[in-house]
Amino acid sequence: MDCLVIDRLAAFPAGLAAGQRQALADGRYPTYQLLIRLPAAAAVEVGKLGRFHFAAGCYRYTGSARRGMAARLARHLRRRKRCHWHIDYFLLGTAAVVEEIRLYRLPECQVNRQTAGLIVAPGFGAGDCRRGCGSHLKLTAPLAGG
Ligand SMILES: [Zn+2]
Repeated sequence: MDCLVIDRLAAFPAGLAAGQRQALADGRYPTYQLLIRLPAAAAVEVGKLGRFHFAAGCYRYTGSARRGMAARLARHLRRRKRCHWHIDYFLLGTAAVVEEIRLYRLPECQVNRQTAGLIVAPGFGAGDCRRGCGSHLKLTAPLAGG
């Protein structure tokens, strides 16, 4: 899948290259994927979805924003915010770290379905998913002992 990788997240969005900034602004890449590392297993209350046990490992969360992509991504990276989306509960309720962001031209459900991984929390981030993904968060690589 054609994608744009953003991996200098400590300086986001100031550290973006001009081309990346433009790509975020013009809507060419409506889908984003957060590559998240959870260093230790954690149990989290994910809003109304319920409480889930997340094994230590690498996760991918797939979402979309046709407009305001830079602001959306900056919000995901912020540690201080009110929990609104399922992913907010996961990122704030654990020691999870967003290590990389990938942007895709394809629709979010298509990207999500092409991402191999385990569903840990059924329904996660899939409130407006009409494609039957099951979850927009996937465990892609469990850590040993997690
Ligand atoms: Zn979906």
